[in-house]
Amino acid sequence: MTSMDLRPDSPAAAGRTDTAPAGATPAGATPAGPVARHTFETRAVHAGRDDLAALGVHAVPIDLSTTYPLPDLPAAALALDAYAEGELPDGSAIYGRLTNPTVRRFEQALAELEGCADAVAFATGMAAVTACLLAAAARGRRHVVAVRPLYGTTDHLLSGGLLGNEVTWVEPDGVARALRPDTGLVMVETPANPTLAELDPAELAAQAGEIPLLVDNTFATPVLQRPATSGARLVLHSATKFLGGHGDVLGGVVACDADWAKSLRQIRFATGALLHPLAGYLLLRGLATLPIRVARASATAAALAARLAAHPAVARVHYPSIGGALVAFEPTGDPMRLVGALRLITPAVSLGGVDTLIQHPASLTHRVIDDAARAEGDIGPRLLRLSIGLEHEADLWADLSAALDRTNDSA
Ligand SMILES: *Cc1c(COP(=O)(O)O)cnc(C)c1O
Repeated sequence: MTSMDLRPDSPAAAGRTDTAPAGATPAGATPAGPVARHTFETRAVHAGRDDLAALGVHAVPIDLSTTYPLPDLPAAALALDAYAEGELPDGSAIYGRLTNPTVRRFEQALAELEGCADAVAFATGMAAVTACLLAAAARGRRHVVAVRPLYGTTDHLLSGGLLGNEVTWVEPDGVARALRPDTGLVMVETPANPTLAELDPAELAAQAGEIPLLVDNTFATPVLQRPATSGARLVLHSATKFLGGHGDVLGGVVACDADWAKSLRQIRFATGALLHPLAGYLLLRGLATLPIRVARASATAAALAARLAAHPAVARVHYPSIGGALVAFEPTGDPMRLVGALRLITPAVSLGGVDTLIQHPASLTHRVIDDAARAEGDIGPRLLRLSIGLEHEADLWADLSAALDRTNDSA
């Protein structure tokens, strides 16, 4: 483990206020920069906005320009060379596919919250995953070592070979043995989608050694876990989920060091899966409430996980030791009937929003992967995944328990 700072006023401690169940592991070291002076919650509000007062505005400006005036053509020509290399030269943004000031605010804010030097935003989480795989391949390394379960489409992208990658699936303790000279990435999720299985990023980083470890941090968010402080080179988010937080924006982002940010921007420049400026605006706005949303949803989720575990119509409950808004469980009765009996909770894929959603991974998010992969990931036919929102715990439990009682085969 890297060092950590859990003084009452430290970012690591602040990030965990009210969210960490007893016995939880610490979130990680104090990131450098302004975060070191202010708590995580405070930086979540101010990150990416520190210059607004000097600009004379209060809300973040949205720049929708697709192109920019170029009065100094020779300077623009040189700048274009730099953009093509993945750099961010001073001066004109030149063209909307190269960079965008509103999106850049979101990138810098997320980088700060993850304790990373930089971040690169994409149109979706899958575009971010794709860019990481392409960047590794561009370095001549197409082999990936990965641990199941992963988000269904990530598993599908890897195992289907759609980008020409070769993947070796391993148990968490088998990462080091699977590394080859052409291994470009070690890819994991923790807590994983959909079983909430947990891995230790520091232990995996030690096994990966020189090979970059990519941790999909979508489920934990930087509120609960900052994998870069444990040695992950790449920290990926489907920003569609908790970062946006309201179910109304698609996005992806990778927080990383300066070298990888350059590679990822180079790929983004050439492949074009950019985040839209309006999405960048919404995601930056989402970050401001991320700590309180995750804290409240986690508290409700932990309480509901305990109540589910005590219910006779529930065979198995999965809830991460680090907390979080996701609960997975297996009813003793038919999961489809149970979902159909809910009135408040919405049956829908996705997660991380203000309202509670439930879905059946085997038939939805993890349908694209084959039976063997589902078995390997412990994604059973009865497994349901809940994403707890900001409704009151009592209302959610009333809905869940009524549906459980109504569909309990053993009753
Ligand atoms: C949703 C999700 C993704 C994919 O993100 P999109 O924004 O839907 O492309 C990747 N990883 C995890 C863990 C996810 O939940």
